[in-house]
Amino acid sequence: MSDLSPLATTGRVLLVDDSVLALETIGARLRAHGLDVVTTPSPLEALALATGEGPPFDLFILDVMMPELDGHALTRRLRAHPRSAHTPILLLTSLDTTDDRVAGLEAGADDFFTKAVPDAEMLARVRSFISLGKMRAHLLAHQEAMARVVREPEAAPERARVEVLHHQPDAAEQLATTLRASPVGAACTVHTRTQATRVSLEGVDALIVSYPLALEGEQPLLARFGFHEDAPPLLVVDAAESTSRRVAAFDAGADDYLPLQTPAPELGARVASALRRQRRQRLLRSARDRATLAAVMDPLTGLHNRAYFQEALAVELKRSVRYGRPLTLVLMDLDHFKQVNDTFGHATGDRALRQVAGCLRGAARSTDILARHGGEEFAIILPETGPELGLVAAERFRAAVEGAVVEGPRGGSLRLTVSAGVGCVPSHARSAQELFEVTDAALYAAKRAGRNRVCLAAPGETSVPRPTPGALPAHERLRRLLAEGPDAPLATVRTAARMLHEATSPGDPLHALTARLQASAEELHRELLTALDELAEPRR
Ligand code: GH3
Ligand code: MG
Ligand code: MG
Repeated sequence: MSDLSPLATTGRVLLVDDSVLALETIGARLRAHGLDVVTTPSPLEALALATGEGPPFDLFILDVMMPELDGHALTRRLRAHPRSAHTPILLLTSLDTTDDRVAGLEAGADDFFTKAVPDAEMLARVRSFISLGKMRAHLLAHQEAMARVVREPEAAPERARVEVLHHQPDAAEQLATTLRASPVGAACTVHTRTQATRVSLEGVDALIVSYPLALEGEQPLLARFGFHEDAPPLLVVDAAESTSRRVAAFDAGADDYLPLQTPAPELGARVASALRRQRRQRLLRSARDRATLAAVMDPLTGLHNRAYFQEALAVELKRSVRYGRPLTLVLMDLDHFKQVNDTFGHATGDRALRQVAGCLRGAARSTDILARHGGEEFAIILPETGPELGLVAAERFRAAVEGAVVEGPRGGSLRLTVSAGVGCVPSHARSAQELFEVTDAALYAAKRAGRNRVCLAAPGETSVPRPTPGALPAHERLRRLLAEGPDAPLATVRTAARMLHEATSPGDPLHALTARLQASAEELHRELLTALDELAEPRR
């Protein structure tokens, strides 16, 4: 149909039909709309393609009447294989009886259409199922990754909740009564409503909604929930069934479209299929939520990881600037931690890191953001906290670690201590990067001053640690800064480069080198180290 825009969705479809003519005509229609279509007349070959090693399919379209293996049996085989278990299946049938539909849905198909279905409707459905397939595949990828990390038993299925939302109270009651009496009625509770305003889909496992409430009026339900990832399956029922209304419903994101007079067994089977879909989606989604959690947590200590810390610092800083509220950053590094590993081994070192994380957690307030920033470095963001209270908090963290004792696996023990730098916005810095740099410099000052102590950052421009008479020679401090900060090359290189840039004049090779910082921080990191090594050479 020319009034339909080409499929916005692209996808890979496996089309199976023993009639070569059907393969050619349907395949051509789908290809004309940009889909990648693989066709085969053999159900067994289809099974091999679907479950084999090739690129996965987003949708299967299967003929029902086939000699080797009929569409229902093929559906069951596909559902039983992990590679195809979640891919949407559309059955293609020349039969169009209720029994046939029910059998297809029970086998695990998502929907079906007759071979005589108009082009527009077929494309609308194919598009909606390809989107569903992609969403499932996406969730599945997370689930597979997570399955290796977390092993959680599947929760026992709860009684499903089905809502019937029909603008005519009689029709709503009729649908609910039909459902309650059907086989799926035993597995769900059915509620009815007659208005779409203030509808919440929270806790709803499937929603049957009348066409006018779904697509018409000021607040059509599908406009709000049609493509919402968290929405349950939405089944549109229509008393005035037509192809154009069917297409409109699928285009607006409906999961199914039924005439109001759909016979009871089919209505029940369709709702049962929607509920199975919803349950699968729920399982996948909760796995994804766990995956999301894993993406922001450090697995060793259970604290936030570095990626999360960086995002959180940016967000908190924006809030602090917008509301004119102070913000404190504490950076901590364990003292002589290498000694723990060297003395007791890496496993004990890991245990010590978990122990330290526990100490920090115990000393933190609920609004503090605790992260493991690197190997044995921790970062704590203290929102709404200025330098005085920031110092008090950092001292509390330092003292919390000071008591910790690591026991060796074969006797012996070491005491843990930590050094800390404290930097604040707006007292010491105005941007996240500057805050990190001044705080890092304060941490190094604490190390130099003898460890197991807290140092406050120097304000403003002095965020760049300047060489001070009597301290280590400048090049040595820079060398250490670069050599010891492999976890934060960008920040340390920037600090070092700025110091060198200011200390040299145009024409000096180092001056030009530091000016190239923007171009390549990592390359510069190595070059600076070499340059500083050479600088130090004549003194040795
Ligand atoms: P300083 O007081 O100057 O910080 O001395 P240090 O020994 O703590 O510092 P250095 O940077 O030389 O060594 C840090 C050590 O932390 C080296 C590395 O073996 C150890 N480390 C880093 N990450 C881990 C980890 O995940 N597990 C274990 N067990 N050790 C780690
Ligand atoms: Mg370190
Ligand atoms: Mg250390």
